[in-house]
Amino acid sequence: MKGRVYLVGAGPGDPELLTLKALKTLRSADVVLHDELVSAEILALIPSSASVISVGKRGGRPSISQQEINRLLVEYGWLGLSVVRLKGGDPFIFGRGGEELAAVRQAGLDCEIVPGITAALGAVSSIQVPLTHRDAASSLLLISGHRAHEVGIQLSHADLAKTTVVIYMPGQNYSRIQKELISAGMAGETPCAIVSQATTRYEKTYQTCVSELHNSPELPSPTLLVIGETVRFAKPATTLNAISLQEHASERVVEAR
Ligand code: SAH
Repeated sequence: MKGRVYLVGAGPGDPELLTLKALKTLRSADVVLHDELVSAEILALIPSSASVISVGKRGGRPSISQQEINRLLVEYGWLGLSVVRLKGGDPFIFGRGGEELAAVRQAGLDCEIVPGITAALGAVSSIQVPLTHRDAASSLLLISGHRAHEVGIQLSHADLAKTTVVIYMPGQNYSRIQKELISAGMAGETPCAIVSQATTRYEKTYQTCVSELHNSPELPSPTLLVIGETVRFAKPATTLNAISLQEHASERVVEAR
């Protein structure tokens, strides 16, 4: 008997941002293979009858290769099981969901995709930054940190001023990203925000602008960098529970909850 593989988005962290469909799929799972990014509160929703396997990187331990993850999905599927591949955010945004889908299809198994709230949506909701706005942004670019230099390839100067750019996996080398954004034509005064552990109780935000980005503090991962005129609409730090990092006492680092 053939099983079925579900690629399920777990959302950005807050368990309440899981979709009803994701919850339903988790509740009927026989085996769950999850990323490290999936929070403990969400893993606690998996019934005790299911096998739970972590396939993410943890504390420097080598992670299981993508090929091995694909092989496990297919093997469990062929055992006739309901297999859930639980991924942070949305499976199809910087999540290698496409590779897993291809492997499952190639093995002749059925695959179902359950979308999740991607980190960018979680982060901007928390800090109250609209991604598009009639007066400030008419398009959105989601890009990974290693490819920040491509911002200029994707967008003309005129488009840049009207686009909200969200950088996934920005790393901690903000000087490099700053240089790449400026050489792409981004104005130095463009506001930006780094959001760390968005939608979790550890969430922190640092607001700055492109020309000051190199002075940003290291916030705990995962972090996202949101850049664009719409960041001006962010919830003011004073209405949040403002904290100061020792080395950045005068900067705007805010803790959301
Ligand atoms: N599929 C995921 C992204 C996986 S790539 C999604 O749709 O959200 C991993 C990157 O996502 C991290 O390096 C970070 O940039 C971002 N990310 C994931 N969860 C996050 C969170 N809670 N807060 C901030 N960034 C997050």
